[in-house]
Order: sequence, then structure tokens, then C-alpha cells
Amino acid sequence: MSAWTLQPIGVIESCFKEKFAIPRQPGLCPSAEATLILQPPFDQADTVRGLEQFSHVWLMFIFHETAAQGWRPTVRPPKLGGNQRVGVFATRSTFRPNPIGLSVAKLAGIDTRDGVRIHLEGADLLDGTPVVDLKPYLGYADALPTASNGYADAGEAPLPVRFSLEADAELAQLDLAYPKLRALINEVLAQDPRPGYADDPEREYGMALYRFNIKWRCDAAGALVTAIRAL
Ligand code: SAM
Repeated sequence: MSAWTLQPIGVIESCFKEKFAIPRQPGLCPSAEATLILQPPFDQADTVRGLEQFSHVWLMFIFHETAAQGWRPTVRPPKLGGNQRVGVFATRSTFRPNPIGLSVAKLAGIDTRDGVRIHLEGADLLDGTPVVDLKPYLGYADALPTASNGYADAGEAPLPVRFSLEADAELAQLDLAYPKLRALINEVLAQDPRPGYADDPEREYGMALYRFNIKWRCDAAGALVTAIRAL
């Protein structure tokens, strides 16, 4: 069969500045903000005419950060604790023969004043992700409420999240400029982004959101945000 070349239609500007702590699927962190910036020759208002009528969109994108690592026939999904293998095509792993991802996101707005900027909420995308296609989400066809989710069924209890006095004060100061940051930290940590098979209760973690390094650790009561630092 012939190979096909895909040309990105645009690039993602996201609150997630590194892979670590990005939710494993879209919709898990509704406060996550991203913007799809269309690139020439697709950056004309005509390409998105009518899209504003839809509440959600599908994004097809390249796992550009991991693409060079290639693929493996089997994968150990975090949902299985990271120690059981299943076939790559039975997972949403980034390590695929063609490093293509598929995510649905809320369409928060479209700005066509200078190029085309499409504002999104709830995406699970790294900053700088190349996007190869954008389509409206069709609830009547795409939503399947009776679908079974196999080993990937939801149901883990969210991790409780607390803030130290220092982190709380820092967030209060940032509230005007970053009104969603506190909710975003809560949503991201509630997903427990620690790698399941490398858990260390003593460890201090950092995660890059917007221009901040959010410091946190875990104890028996859940996640504790200890400080907010500049990246
Ligand atoms: N929803 C998509 C799908 O099912 O195809 C992605 C699922 S994948 C399990 C989600 C993870 O992809 C995120 O937790 C993040 O670490 C990673 N990711 C997001 N953008 C990426 C990128 N541009 N390159 C590599 N990995 C990325």
C-alpha cells in the first residue's frame, strides 16, 4: 500500500507544557485551556465557517513528543497498573505505528480577526502538538452511551487535593491573571498523575502548567500542593 503524507493544519498552544501530568484522556480536566492556531493556507475564516454552531470538536493530532520512539506490538496501560500487557491497538497509547492521537474537546470560541484561533477546553494535548484534522463532534453518531470500556473502565476514586498555606497565598495572587489555575491543579491531581508502577510516597513532584512549576507530593490523605514557582 502507498504511504501518505499528512500536512498539519495547525498547532496547539496548551496550558500543559510537558507530558507529565497531562490527563490520560480529554474531558477529565474541563479547566484545561488550549488554542488551535491554524497555519497557512488553512488560516482563513472560510475553513471554519459554520463550526461555531457545534459545542465540541474532534482533533486528530501527531504525538510529536514521543513519535521518534517508535511503536511496540504490546503496551502496559496505566489502567492495568502498568504491569500487564495488551496489544497496541487495544490501547490509546502514544507509541503507535502511526503516531496519531484523537481527542474530543469543548469548542469555547473561534477568533478569525487575525488568522484563525480556535479556543478549546478539556483537551489532553501538549503545548506544540501538530494537528492534522479538525471535525465537528456529532452527538447523535459519536456518543454511544451503551459502549463497554473493557479494562479501561472509569471508576477510580479521585485523589483528594489540598493546598499548603504558601501555595494557597501564591494562587490567590495569580487569580486575576490565571483564573482557572486553581481548578486546573485540582482536576489534574485528582487524576493521580503518578506513574502507577514507580510510586514513591516520599517523592516531590513538579508539573508544568502555563508558566508555572507546580510542586506537590502525596501522603496518606492525598495530594498536597506545596508551592507554585516560575518555570
Ligand atoms: N485522547 C488521545 C487518544 O486517545 O488518542 C490521547 C490519549 S494519550 C493516552 C494521552 C496522553 O498523550 C497524555 O497524557 C499526554 O501525556 C500524551 N500527549 C499529549 N500530547 C502529546 C504529544 N503531542 N506528543 C506525545 N504525547 C502527547
